[in-house]
Amino acid sequence: FNTDRFGQHILTNPLVAQGIVDKANLKPTDIVLEVGPGTGNLTVRILPVSRKVVAVEMDPRMAAEVTKRVLGKPEQKKLEIILGDFVKAELPYFDVCISNTPYQISSPLVFKLLSHRPIIRTAVLMFQREFALRLTAPPGTKSWCRLAANVQLYARVEHIMKVGKGNFRPPPQVESSVVRMSPRDPPPPVKFEEFDGLNRVIFGRMNKTIRANFTARGVKELCERNYRTTCAEKGIIVPDEFDIKEKVEEILVGAGFADSRAAKMDVNDLLKLLAAFNIENIHFA
Ligand code: SAM
Repeated sequence: FNTDRFGQHILTNPLVAQGIVDKANLKPTDIVLEVGPGTGNLTVRILPVSRKVVAVEMDPRMAAEVTKRVLGKPEQKKLEIILGDFVKAELPYFDVCISNTPYQISSPLVFKLLSHRPIIRTAVLMFQREFALRLTAPPGTKSWCRLAANVQLYARVEHIMKVGKGNFRPPPQVESSVVRMSPRDPPPPVKFEEFDGLNRVIFGRMNKTIRANFTARGVKELCERNYRTTCAEKGIIVPDEFDIKEKVEEILVGAGFADSRAAKMDVNDLLKLLAAFNIENIHFA
């Protein structure tokens, strides 16, 4: 097997596999999406406790392997395999996602699950330890970052268990962790591109003040461009003496965040700051 191309590290510890499935709190009526079933160590544990498993697998040899495992058993009818790349696949309806996938697709996996509609109930996912710690980091801690803010805007994320290299064959280079992610329903009424656009600015140097980050190259220009576009759309006349620098300062001071630092701001602070800009017709997307 070409383990590099597909990131094939099979989870061989049955206790860890069972632990992952248990943490999903499956109901017998649930349709479960599994990403990268491999030889099916998780799949065979999900099948008996769910209504159906839809497994997306890129490697035909692995798909054949997992199919063989349920052949002739009652579970066979409950397993549907979609052969292809998860990142590009069009996903059917599902309630819960369980996956131990290669770590190269961690970010796309998270955001694809968060933007899936209807909103899923929960996802139990294996990640590289460092990525898991960033996803679950609270504000003010060492791992808090733009990724954490973007994900925690849409979901509650918990670190469930640490999984050492020795639980896989062949063992990966890095340590792993299992994370549970439960999307907020309804989702917050804010455009992702807008929230991420602001975060891009203020997490640039997240230990510097918000005011300092707004002086970074290109930021004021971006604000002014977007401001003028919005004004044009709304038919608002921009006064000749308009000065984006003054406008930004006024907004930051007014909202009380000029001297704050993204490193210590929580999702609510970030939403307040974004709203303060948006109400003044400044957008980030
Ligand atoms: N889930 C199994 C387990 O826990 O033992 C296998 C884990 S192995 C780390 C990752 C699996 O994902 C492999 O079977 C690999 O072929 C598959 N895979 C890799 N990239 C994929 C992608 N983009 N879409 C779907 N499956 C993928």
